[in-house]
Amino acid sequence: MKNYDVIVVGGGLAGSATTYHLSLLGYKVALVEQGNIASGASGRNGGQVLQCEGKDKNPDVLLGRLRYTKGNIKLLKEYEKDLDMDFQFRQVGSLDLVTSEEELEEVKEIYEVQKKIKDDEVVLLDDAEFHKEFPHFADFICGARFRWSDGNIFSLNLVNGLVDGSKKLGADIFTWHKVDKVVIESGKVKGVKAKGLRFASERVVLATSFWTKEILPGFGLKIFPHRPICCISEPYPEIRGPAFEVVMGDDITWGATQFQGGHLLVGGGAGRPRALEEQHDYVLDWADMVRSAAALAKIFPKLGDVSIIRCWTGTVGFTIDGFPLVGKSSFGEGLYIIGGFPAGMGLIPYTAKLLADLIADREMEVDLEPYDPDRFNDVRIELPERYNYAILEDYLGRL
Ligand SMILES: Cc1cc2nc3c(=O)[nH]c(=O)nc-3n(C[C@H](O)[C@H](O)[C@H](O)COP(=O)(O)OP(=O)(O)OC[C@H]3O[C@@H](n4cnc5c(N)ncnc54)[C@H](O)[C@@H]3O)c2cc1C
Repeated sequence: MKNYDVIVVGGGLAGSATTYHLSLLGYKVALVEQGNIASGASGRNGGQVLQCEGKDKNPDVLLGRLRYTKGNIKLLKEYEKDLDMDFQFRQVGSLDLVTSEEELEEVKEIYEVQKKIKDDEVVLLDDAEFHKEFPHFADFICGARFRWSDGNIFSLNLVNGLVDGSKKLGADIFTWHKVDKVVIESGKVKGVKAKGLRFASERVVLATSFWTKEILPGFGLKIFPHRPICCISEPYPEIRGPAFEVVMGDDITWGATQFQGGHLLVGGGAGRPRALEEQHDYVLDWADMVRSAAALAKIFPKLGDVSIIRCWTGTVGFTIDGFPLVGKSSFGEGLYIIGGFPAGMGLIPYTAKLLADLIADREMEVDLEPYDPDRFNDVRIELPERYNYAILEDYLGRL
């Protein structure tokens, strides 16, 4: 039996960042991953670093989120210096695109709230200003909110950089070790069982996204799966301001990013509504690919013919209020959770650092109270029988 100060389960961005920050604080950490490092959502995403997604107009919610996302941007810059890995952080900005007069009015309202709370990194662009600044986009886009401090990263590299950094600080990394069970005796965490081995610790962090329900009986659907799709083009000369979100028709939200090599990435949550068990199906069908390619062509008609070289899917962990679960869990003394990030690039590293501070009983720059993992303990969570992003958006009424 191996003994550790802390065991972290899950080798995605949440688990690797938590391991790194605990290792920096001098803890002996084991990171246990069921497959390869970043084999879940963290190795399959679009890499957009967005600070405020969605259409929230509540000033407290907007301000609350910025407390974490600003810390996150600062931390990404520190990682650029501290990690021996180029994760291609490019602060190219992000666009919340508008496609109708009605949507423009809504975006204006959000912009006014942002001005009031002195969120001064955001600019509102009308039709003419937008097309002057961003000439590659289709004419049906009639304005945008632009945040210059957003951008994108290559998440696979970031996760591997954090894992390498943790190893150098003394962490042990176990890949292809599926944790079957968290061992809890008399209400206290004692470790985990994986591959017939027992790893002992009085502190366990579950960074296992929607899989958490499999190893923590009674956890249920507090983090549930959703399956977006991505496609990537052949390299294209740099275009301006490419990280963006747009709602097209009544059911698709697409985001896109251009990587350092010039590849354009388009992703989204469309596709046929699927049952919960199918949200973890990594096999794409033709309809998925055609839809992604059509979205790229619709948004960038002015680019001419661009070939799609790869399509893939992955599974995101969602929560019913759209916010992650980060902090102490009442499921056992010594148990911590970090998961349920629909768009984690703008949040995970900083919340992982805060979690490490919480575990180490250190003073925290910002508390994690809004992300309390116990906040749904008394809520009965039921989901539509089949869902895609549009159905979820409508059902949850907040995205
Ligand atoms: C197609 C797609 C596009 C996306 N685009 C963006 C984007 O542009 N910007 C953005 O911010 N976010 C994006 N996301 C979301 C982003 O990827 C997630 O927010 C983030 O990766 C979540 O990280 P995580 O560590 O919580 O989860 P994951 O990366 O899924 O990690 C969880 C890990 O736990 C492991 N695990 C589970 N059970 C066990 C077990 N029993 N034992 C051991 N290990 C276990 C899994 O194998 C997995 O590696 C996208 C996601 C997808 C799928």
